[in-house]
Amino acid sequence: MKSDDFFLETAANPCESASARTRGCLPTAVSPQKSTASHLIGDAVIRSALLDAGACAVGFAEAAPVDEGEWVAFQRWLANGKNAGMDYMHNSPDIRRDPRLLLPGARTVISLAFQYPQAPANNPGIAAYAFGRDYHKVIRKKIKKVLSELPEIYKNAKYRICIDSAPILERYWGVKSGIGYRGRNGAIIVPGYGSFVFLAEIITDLELTPSSPSTDKCIGCNFCIKKCPGGALNVNGEVNCTKCISYLTIEHRGEWDATGTEVMETEHGRNTLFGCDLCLSLCPHNRHTDSKVIPELQSTPEMLTLNPTELTTLIEEEYRCRFAGLPLSRLHHSDLTRNLRSQAQR
Ligand code: SF4
Ligand code: SF4
Repeated sequence: MKSDDFFLETAANPCESASARTRGCLPTAVSPQKSTASHLIGDAVIRSALLDAGACAVGFAEAAPVDEGEWVAFQRWLANGKNAGMDYMHNSPDIRRDPRLLLPGARTVISLAFQYPQAPANNPGIAAYAFGRDYHKVIRKKIKKVLSELPEIYKNAKYRICIDSAPILERYWGVKSGIGYRGRNGAIIVPGYGSFVFLAEIITDLELTPSSPSTDKCIGCNFCIKKCPGGALNVNGEVNCTKCISYLTIEHRGEWDATGTEVMETEHGRNTLFGCDLCLSLCPHNRHTDSKVIPELQSTPEMLTLNPTELTTLIEEEYRCRFAGLPLSRLHHSDLTRNLRSQAQR
C-alpha cells in the first residue's frame, strides 16, 4: 500500500527533487503567493491534458476538510485495529483530514484513475498490478510532463502530486471528485473501466469547477464479501487488513500472527505469492470494461515469463537486482521467503 512521505512541486520547477523536501515531515519553503491564474481557469484544458496522458477518469473537488461522516468512519476503522501493522495510518491526522495543509493556498483536489490490466491466465499468485512497472514512478512522470507542458497561464500555479506519497484519503477524494464510486470490496469503481485502477491526486491552488460527487453504488451482489478467504470485508466497504491476504503478503513484516496464519492456510492463501485480487476479479463491475491502459502500465515481459521456482533460488542481492523498478521489489526478501514457504506447504 503506501508510506507517508511528502513531495511538493510546481509546474514551473517540475524537476525539484523529493528528497530535498521530504526530510522531516511538513513541506517547507512554500511561497504563500496566490496564483494569478486561479480566477481565469476553467477545467477543460487540465482535464483533457490528463485524459490525453492516459488517465481513464479525471475529476475535481474543492480542497476542504474531509466530511465528518467519512472522518468518523476512518477513525473507527483505526480504533478497531483494521489497519493491522500499518501504524503510519495514525500519522498526521490533521493533514489527512484537510488537504489544504499539504499545499498552502490549495483550492482544488484533482483525482485521477489510471487503468491497469487484469492478471494473465497462468498467474502464479501475484496481484495483477504487480505485472507492470512501478506505477508510482510511471504515473508521477506522466503527471509531471502534463503539468510542465500546460499553457503559460498555468505556470504560476502550485501543484503537489500524491501517489501513495502523502496522508490523504484517496478513495474519499475519488468519490468526491466524481471519478467513481465505492464497492463493498473497498475499491473505487470507475464507470466503464472498473476497479483495476491506480488512483492519484494533484493538489493545486488553481480554482477549478468541482465535479459532481458520485452518488452511485455498486450493485451489492456481495460476491466479494462471501468469497473473501479471510472474511476481511463488510457491507460498508471496510477492509480488515489483519485478515486480508493482500496486506499479509505485501505489507506485513515478519511472521504472521494466529489470525494471519489461519487466513494464509486457506486454499487461496496458499496459492498466493504477492497480493490478492479475488474481490476485484469477482466483481461484476470488472467484466466487459473498456480498455485504456497506457503502454507503460502494461504487464512486463520479465513478469509474464516469471517462473516462481526461480524465486526460491535467489539470494537477497539477486532478488533486488532482478526486480528493481517492479512492484515485487517492495517485498523484503525475508517476507518473500515467508510467502514462498507458505506456498510450498500447499
Ligand atoms: S484482497 Fe483478497 S483477502 Fe483482501 S479483501 Fe480482497 S479478497 Fe479478501
Ligand atoms: S462484488 Fe458485488 S458487492 Fe462486491 S464490490 Fe462488486 S458489485 Fe459490490
